[in-house]
Amino acid sequence: MRSTRRKQAGEIANWVDKGAAFSGASVLLFLAVLLVSAAAPEKHLAIYSTAANYSLPVLQRQGQDYVGLLELLDPLGTVSAKSDPPRWRLHYNNILAEFTAGKSRARIQGRDTDLAGRFLMENGRGLVPLASLNSLLPRFLGGPATLREESNRLFIGNIATHFTASVSPDDPSRLIFRFTAPVNPSVASEPGKLRLTFRREPLTAPASPMLTFSSRIIPSADYSENNGAAEIEVTTAIPLLANFSPDGRTITLAPAKSQTATKAPAVNGNGTPAANIPVAAPAPSSAQSSLATSAAPPASAPRRYFAIVDASHGGNDRGEALSATLAEKDITVAFARRLRQELESRGITTLVLRDSDANLPLDDRAYFANTTHAAVYISLHAASNGHGVRVYTALLPYTGEDDRGPFRSWITAQSSSISLSQAAAASVAAELRKLQVTVRTLSAPLRPLNNIVTAAIAVEVAPPASDLSPLTAPDYQQLIAGAVANGIVAIRGQLGAAP
Ligand SMILES: [Zn+2]
Repeated sequence: MRSTRRKQAGEIANWVDKGAAFSGASVLLFLAVLLVSAAAPEKHLAIYSTAANYSLPVLQRQGQDYVGLLELLDPLGTVSAKSDPPRWRLHYNNILAEFTAGKSRARIQGRDTDLAGRFLMENGRGLVPLASLNSLLPRFLGGPATLREESNRLFIGNIATHFTASVSPDDPSRLIFRFTAPVNPSVASEPGKLRLTFRREPLTAPASPMLTFSSRIIPSADYSENNGAAEIEVTTAIPLLANFSPDGRTITLAPAKSQTATKAPAVNGNGTPAANIPVAAPAPSSAQSSLATSAAPPASAPRRYFAIVDASHGGNDRGEALSATLAEKDITVAFARRLRQELESRGITTLVLRDSDANLPLDDRAYFANTTHAAVYISLHAASNGHGVRVYTALLPYTGEDDRGPFRSWITAQSSSISLSQAAAASVAAELRKLQVTVRTLSAPLRPLNNIVTAAIAVEVAPPASDLSPLTAPDYQQLIAGAVANGIVAIRGQLGAAP
């Protein structure tokens, strides 16, 4: 029990550190990339790993894309190469690889490997086809490597930064991006657009590349990937400033005029999460646009949400296969959006944690929920078995330890709020019963409920009968979401009063 907890706490610390650490080398590479790209759009490969995020030039040879293998492996381990034309031998940690110029097969640890093209040697430098990396790298690294060939982005291991974007419920001119790890994009603008470019971050696409918002001022944002970078382009009717939170996990876009004027240098991409670096996006009508900063906004106070709605599963985790075509992860997002609507219409500010088809680990969900200091956390699940709704609260593991010190244990973080969670579950269940919905309240070791410090419930929605179709029907979703929202409203005073 103890070691499990240590491990979980360690994983979170590691995850936090990882995001914050940009190596000096990657910053230099990044600056070099910037300088070069100003002259001509050269091709680059961006590499994201737990060890470092960096970028390498992509070389065009014989109509194919190539990359230097030694340079690629260098930041990841101990590597050396010996050239003895036409042979080229490479040592990576304890692995020996032998290449021959002009040959499309190599030997790694005595085993033959196909390179998807010829190996090239230039001045003692070994070049491999970009297309070979998916099969070649796991042989060296002992783990998965995923090359997104269309955008020249290489993900080593299970590494990704996800984001959500939402317009502030009480100010349609503020767009808030939240990231699962610190980011430091460069910001540029043109009339009607503000563009965030992420070169060093393993930023990963939302479910749909086109994000739309219910705001006429900021109607949409577009996600794209190209040439070793990810980009978010925001369409805006008025000039916006980008304001970075000190921890680099939140970027708020807000109108320039609402900010107080303080001069600040328009420097970005310096490797540290840049706080308060504003760049104005001129309005579509303005003929002259200036990239220079006009005013620096004050440090944005983190927005407080009363409720966090978490659409369970997502990305590779499809949840329950409700039918041949219906995945739980899709139902939970639809329910989450509806529940947000219902809560917001009752005056409860709500953040949906997973508003896209993203992989979001349970630890990240709990971390997000805890750092927003919301009054209540509602996780949503869907099921094909059973009828109606099950409302869960955490079943806390017994640790036999006094957990009231200044540091709460991760696995029993919920302990001080469990009675409030049970009150919330009872209130939601009572509202559902009023609508003749079959409902049960249960305690279960359902993660991440036990990791949430505030009141936390999970709502699992099953169809009223064995027919699945109501799960996707707007009126059934509306009925359930409305009742859950009423249940939260009924005890909002109690929830809001919690420390
Ligand atoms: Zn589920």
